[in-house]
Amino acid sequence: MYDVRLLIDDQDLAASTAATFQRRNPVTGEVASVAAAATVADADRAANSAAAAFPAWSSTSPTQRRAMLNKAANILDRRAGEFADAAMMETGATRMWILFNCKLAANVLREAASMTTQVGGEVIPSDHEGAISLSVRQPAGVCVGIAPWNAPVILGVRAIAMPLACGNTVILKASELCPKTHQLIGDVLREAGLPKGVVNVLSNAPEDAGAVVEALIAHPAVRRVNFTGSTRVGRLIAETCARHLKRCLLELGGKAPLIVLDDADLDEAVKAAAFGAFMNQGQICMSTERLIVLDSVADEFARRFKAKVATLKAGDPRQGNTALGAVVNAGAVERISQLVTDAVEKGASVLTGGDSDGAIMAPTVLDHVTRSMNIFHEESFGPCVSIVRVADLDEAVTVANDTEYGLSAAVFSQNIARAMEVARRIESGICHINGPTVADEPQVPFGGVKSSGYGRFGGKAAIDEFTDLRWITLQTAPGHYPI
Ligand code: NAD
Repeated sequence: MYDVRLLIDDQDLAASTAATFQRRNPVTGEVASVAAAATVADADRAANSAAAAFPAWSSTSPTQRRAMLNKAANILDRRAGEFADAAMMETGATRMWILFNCKLAANVLREAASMTTQVGGEVIPSDHEGAISLSVRQPAGVCVGIAPWNAPVILGVRAIAMPLACGNTVILKASELCPKTHQLIGDVLREAGLPKGVVNVLSNAPEDAGAVVEALIAHPAVRRVNFTGSTRVGRLIAETCARHLKRCLLELGGKAPLIVLDDADLDEAVKAAAFGAFMNQGQICMSTERLIVLDSVADEFARRFKAKVATLKAGDPRQGNTALGAVVNAGAVERISQLVTDAVEKGASVLTGGDSDGAIMAPTVLDHVTRSMNIFHEESFGPCVSIVRVADLDEAVTVANDTEYGLSAAVFSQNIARAMEVARRIESGICHINGPTVADEPQVPFGGVKSSGYGRFGGKAAIDEFTDLRWITLQTAPGHYPI
């Protein structure tokens, strides 16, 4: 069992009230972590610590920041086993998934490190004689990052890596479902030598999330907020940010479509669909939720997909012998099962799966799903994917866009011009041609449209998110004034 403290001002602290909360292992029901339940006073303390650290950190040279972030990446690589042990206990994920998380998260740190020298500006031609007119990017201030449990290392690191690289100090608000995993991120950065107060990590009891997050957003030193999580909570965060006039970046839910055109390589589409739908038990914002298949190839696609999914087993992640581990809790299985029942009552058929044992749920495929069913619209965020059959390309695009979400998408066709046309017409931040909906690289502009949020993590796009763009002029000749 883990004892999780708050990381404030370089110290491991109990909450101001000494309150704690528990996170249970979703597979065994045993207590995985007992974590400090931060209060509003702790949120203020963390923000004050980050504010105090800001002047010095924002003045460090890019090379110094780069060295520390690269060092943190190497430490994260070395400590991947610790992350795997913690996250498996807290979230029920497979070891494979968490080790992959660590690998990508270390590269997120390396990419952020490389960006420290890219926080530039430009010289703007001026109409005023002797004037040098500059746009200059400066660190924004204290940044709050709020991360979920599903890709805990990637998303926890992503929430703070580019803010730090740009010269900001940060507060990571951990997920209640994986407080130890997120606390380890703070530990890695501290070991890498980031100065006192530059990185703070808060864990909170679920019932305190609203108050703690509001206190953080309201704090005058906090200039940016980024949130990865559900659309429901994202909306609350955006409302709070609007009230306090704080800029926010929102990475929210998804309902990713994968379109299979009639000229697709079906074996490739099947492989990508199975990976995209069932990696991490379908609990990825980019998870393939809807397989939109042209009628003429739908029977054959369904036959091959069913055979592929039959090779994927779900089981106790501690045994380490199944492709799928546990979903995050038994309640999620209940919610997904209700979506399956509703679909079947309205005419869908279960091609495979549907059964569960506690938090372990078999990969489930529904065929003949239509828009009258709840699962057509709602993010399942679990090991359940729907096949929607359509007459032609136009209907495929219409169905793909018939959702409030717009994060990731994919289209399979051997005619690249046709696939490109579909990709252009899909309303999503991300679209892959002949690849899965689940993909991420630290250097790409990652983010959604519609109810999947706004703003971009990754690469140069993130510089805009975490800096202020200022206009500075330098007058080198005598001025001419009208009065
Ligand atoms: P969630 O929205 O339930 O919780 C996320 C965070 O919100 C937690 O830290 C929690 O403390 C906080 N929170 C809860 N209530 C709050 C309130 N009233 N005010 C302020 N904060 C509050 O999400 P989750 O279940 O942890 O994650 C799953 C969701 O995240 C899915 O919808 C998934 O699609 C999405 N997600 C998106 C991305 C992306 O990059 N777009 C990545 C991963 C997950």
